[in-house]
Amino acid sequence: MTNLTLTMLGTGSPKPNLERSGPAQVITIDNTPILIDCGEGTVRQLMKMEINPADINYLCFTHLHSDHVFGYEHFLLGGWSLGRRKLTIIGPKGTRRFHERVLEMFEEDIDYRLSLGIPGQGLMDVTIIELEDEGGLVDTEMPAKITTTPVIHNVKTFAFRFDIGAKAITISGDTAPVDSLVKLAKGSDILVQDAAINTSSINSQTSDDGNLKNIWKRLENEHCTPAQAGALAKEADVKKLVMTHFLPNVDAELASKEASEVFDGEVIAGSDFDVFILND
Ligand SMILES: [Zn+2]
Ligand SMILES: [Zn+2]
Repeated sequence: MTNLTLTMLGTGSPKPNLERSGPAQVITIDNTPILIDCGEGTVRQLMKMEINPADINYLCFTHLHSDHVFGYEHFLLGGWSLGRRKLTIIGPKGTRRFHERVLEMFEEDIDYRLSLGIPGQGLMDVTIIELEDEGGLVDTEMPAKITTTPVIHNVKTFAFRFDIGAKAITISGDTAPVDSLVKLAKGSDILVQDAAINTSSINSQTSDDGNLKNIWKRLENEHCTPAQAGALAKEADVKKLVMTHFLPNVDAELASKEASEVFDGEVIAGSDFDVFILND
């Protein structure tokens, strides 16, 4: 039997929020955790869930927007200082440059720590797999079959599907509704879906502020509403929809209601520290 869990570490957005940490979730397959995105506060969220950051040897970035990577420096250096000696990262093109810039930024700090005799493994030799623009199957030694597909956002963004035995979890990344995601998520046990354009945001469209209206219009091309999240879940015929990427003051109950009007399966407006058990 495989012990399989999905833990929501951060269900927030770029707007700082005490109730919701930056976007991040972890899939744990027996004793192997795979981190997906690394938003603000990820290290602390992991520790609160009693997952040692040093035990995470695999990290997938859906995209490199600041809200999905704000926690990376802490994860990289903090995990290493706690004893991580191996790390593989999968992400879009630009992931290697991003990682190298972090090393550069902390060069003096790292040199000092290396001079104390801490081995460089796990920090200076990180394996980075940059995804081809068309996505596809990713060749890794992770205990899951990983398939990716490009989705619709304002920078290169990928949805990830993890097949573990007979179970499947799909993470949408930030995206507007798109067929490639429906195809990727087909039959998944769980779809973790961006539902950033929540009702309180929609309400703000009625504001007289022209600039705000303009921003919301742009967001409509880059994120989903709860109803669109529900429609994607229905089309993909998934078992459970977990919505995430919420702005502050989201009405989670209303978001669930809107998604449930479209999708008959189980609907959850995700919260930080939600754990879903999918033992096979
Ligand atoms: Zn984004
Ligand atoms: Zn985001």
